[in-house]
Amino acid sequence: MSAVSPQSQGAAARGTNQRKQIMLVQFGKCRLELVEGDVTDQQVDAIVNAANDQLAGGGGVDGAIHRAGGPALMEETRRRYPDGCPTGDAVATTAGNLNAKYVFHAVGPVWRGGQHGEAELLRSAYRRCLELAVEHNCATIAFPAISTGVYGYPTDRAAEESLNAVREFLTEREQPELTRFVLFGEGAFGAFARVLEGMSV
Ligand code: ADP
Repeated sequence: MSAVSPQSQGAAARGTNQRKQIMLVQFGKCRLELVEGDVTDQQVDAIVNAANDQLAGGGGVDGAIHRAGGPALMEETRRRYPDGCPTGDAVATTAGNLNAKYVFHAVGPVWRGGQHGEAELLRSAYRRCLELAVEHNCATIAFPAISTGVYGYPTDRAAEESLNAVREFLTEREQPELTRFVLFGEGAFGAFARVLEGMSV
């Protein structure tokens, strides 16, 4: 088993006086980071989108990714994946104007009370993105908190499933080098940080 060594540190957000939270944990050769921020600002090989199963575009992080990436993203998803993508799976496109090589469009479950396979589907969405990262030679990947917005998955439960799915993958496959969760707001950051701290004791 990989040693887990958490270090938390505050870091000044660029261009502001605001201090944003960062948490770093090493799983063997792989680094897991939690940061508070906007996933569209990330400079990584792959940015993950929380898409719907029609890949039809929407609000939240999906709207932000399509705005920042430009129309090429929607053109490519329509052309390559006209049937959409099943829940628990993910598909890759190029990243348009984003600072990344790829966008992985992952479809998380809608929360329906927790008895409808939501946990396994959420874990599967993360796993599929990490598999796509390995297939596309991505050393770095940034995730939003899939399903925790309009899809209504309770954030602390989502944090538990998401972080466990990622930890399992990194421990087993030893790649990608860097997996970053980009959490929108202090509340989401806190929920993920509490779970990650709990995992390291
Ligand atoms: P879903 O439909 O999967 O719930 P949403 O986009 O509604 O997807 O929300 C997923 C999470 O992404 C929510 O926690 C939301 O606060 C967060 N979010 C929204 N915009 C961004 C962004 N630009 N960067 C990172 N996270 C974001």
